[in-house]
Amino acid sequence: MRNHPTSAEVYERVREKHPSISRATVYRNLAVLAEGGDIVRVKVPSGADHYDFREDAHFHAVCRECGAVCDVDVQPGVDAFAHLDAHGFQVEECSVVFSGLCPACAAKAAE
Ligand SMILES: [Zn+2]
Ligand SMILES: [Zn+2]
Repeated sequence: MRNHPTSAEVYERVREKHPSISRATVYRNLAVLAEGGDIVRVKVPSGADHYDFREDAHFHAVCRECGAVCDVDVQPGVDAFAHLDAHGFQVEECSVVFSGLCPACAAKAAE
């Protein structure tokens, strides 16, 4: 499984171990986990949502060609969090998605 599977990929993976589980059950559980903040839903503008099982705050880069999702481990948002905190704003969620071309697709595009 990739680091950021879509719900369909999670379903395929779960079904290997639990052949009788329904797609609806898996999707519902993913939605519940995402609502509760246990997993992160990465919204991809041009495709299915991806799910992330990392809990620490980080950003994502999404390739617009192949849909690959990569973690971005820099934290340009740290000052923003401090700023929001200083203004009494309680942050519950933060999502930053960079979109563009992954190295493989950029190389293809350059050919
Ligand atoms: Zn790509
Ligand atoms: Zn991630």
